[in-house]
Amino acid sequence: MNIDMNVETNQFTGKQKLDYWNNSPDTLSRVFYHLYWNAFQPNSMMDNRSRRQGTIVLRTDRNGNDLRDWDPRIADRIQNLKPDEYGYQKIISLKMNGRPQTFKVEETILEVDLDKPILPRSKVTFEMEFQAQVPIQIRRSGRDNPTTKVRYSMSQWYPKMCEYDYEGWHPTPYVGREFYGVWGDFDVTISIDKKYILAGSGYLQNPNQIGYGYEAKGVEVKRPAGEKLTWRFIAPNVHDFVWAADPDFVHESRQLRDSLTVHIFYKPTNATAQQWENLLDIAQKALPFIEKTFGPYPYKQYSFIHGGDGGMEYPMAALLESPNGAVHEWMHSWYQGMLGTNESLYPWMDEGFAQYSTARVWAYLNNTTGFAQANNYNSYFNLAKSSKEEPLSTHADHFNTNFAYDAGSYYKGSVFLEQLGYIVGAPVRDKILLEYYRLWRFKHPNAQDFINVAEKVSNMKLDWYKEFWIYSTKTIDYSIDSLWEENGKTNIRIKDVGLVPMPIDVQLTFKDGTKELHYVPLDLMYGTKPKETDTIARIVYEPWHWTSPTYIIQTNRKLTDITVAEIDPSQRLADINRKDNKIELKW
Ligand SMILES: [Zn+2]
Repeated sequence: MNIDMNVETNQFTGKQKLDYWNNSPDTLSRVFYHLYWNAFQPNSMMDNRSRRQGTIVLRTDRNGNDLRDWDPRIADRIQNLKPDEYGYQKIISLKMNGRPQTFKVEETILEVDLDKPILPRSKVTFEMEFQAQVPIQIRRSGRDNPTTKVRYSMSQWYPKMCEYDYEGWHPTPYVGREFYGVWGDFDVTISIDKKYILAGSGYLQNPNQIGYGYEAKGVEVKRPAGEKLTWRFIAPNVHDFVWAADPDFVHESRQLRDSLTVHIFYKPTNATAQQWENLLDIAQKALPFIEKTFGPYPYKQYSFIHGGDGGMEYPMAALLESPNGAVHEWMHSWYQGMLGTNESLYPWMDEGFAQYSTARVWAYLNNTTGFAQANNYNSYFNLAKSSKEEPLSTHADHFNTNFAYDAGSYYKGSVFLEQLGYIVGAPVRDKILLEYYRLWRFKHPNAQDFINVAEKVSNMKLDWYKEFWIYSTKTIDYSIDSLWEENGKTNIRIKDVGLVPMPIDVQLTFKDGTKELHYVPLDLMYGTKPKETDTIARIVYEPWHWTSPTYIIQTNRKLTDITVAEIDPSQRLADINRKDNKIELKW
């Protein structure tokens, strides 16, 4: 792509040449592109959607004001945009293999009826001329965010080919969230006012003409004459390309290891320089743990860029309103950047997995020993008790409330992985994550693909876990029903009060301080969790048939020897009522 940017009008012209391979077995008679920025116009689908969410009152805050379901960043702001604040992407011309094509625009989707179909396993070249206006910052992209004061956050900024996969085309109108893209090699040239400093996906090809911290050490920067400077970036094997620009960006970088440099670009507006610089230390300290646990980072560059709103992940970069959410966005390099799930269909596989891995990274960085996922679990419990929960299999745009989407995909999604560790054992879960990475990076895995990997690595059936946890809103609730002594031995009856069956760990603590772990696998697993610790003796039972309301376990000790009986002291079982999970006995 070649972009010519006018920083006075906030408009740019672009030429896009796209070599498109139809790797499918299907003949394609039409193609679709995203035109995301057309959402930032009054009465757009995003505007309508947001104002509808504004009519839903979730609760009142402590000052008695209604807390509405709309994203306060969007609210009714699109409705009030003036023409020079709109966003748009206009297609001037489109050719396939040199022949003009007819197309029509349905707001954020461009539909192209091809004059000749694209045959399976063949390549065509599209050439497009387009013109665009950068919207005032509403959501993710735009200009002049009043908080950050960053001039340009250029995400979802170019006409982007939709994904065609085994389910067909995914021309998803932009109404709020979630992305899905085609893997490709990007070569992007941007001409812009010389004073602007750019950051983005991709490796800068002309650093010594540019300077601004990109130049090689000791090199004298020679900028060509003229008002504008032309930046050329190459990003191999990514499914999107982001950039940001500001005349006052501070740019620093640090080499973390061979073939990987991390960059920060910021303005000391709403966070201090020190807070931004800390990201270099955090990244350096976290990287070995992240790569060992979640798989190697394959690109040579990653950039934390001040921009956007909140935080948003892109290949090789994140746009961050403040440095706070940096680790979460970085973890999206794995769960979205490399494992490119269709986020509309499986938002929990990118947001939930990013949320989960972020908690693990912070536990590592802070050297905490407590339950690292406690916040994620508590937020899920909140959702489960809210009466607003919807199944995680819901399309991201179809949730009735933003609240249910957020709490579901981020928190119930993160619980999915931690609880998987409860079912198969934490070391096995970690093997699953690495195998998932190895088999599916640079592809588009779906929920079943993950389950298939998990089943192979664990040698257990896990379809039931997907059905209950992802496809329903049923909840888990076990309790310790009663204890009684018989012939010097003690029986403990466990009761299944909830609707989601799970394997059960019960830990008994005795007066002498010793412990026993009683483990009851679930019949549906057709397998047994390997022992997770050698420090506590473990007794393994016959599987619990999932329709049975109770199960009795037994210890050789007398009742009066027992001081505590507790279901899952690890707290990884997302039991919505933990009060009845533990009995303390005083003798
Ligand atoms: Zn995220």
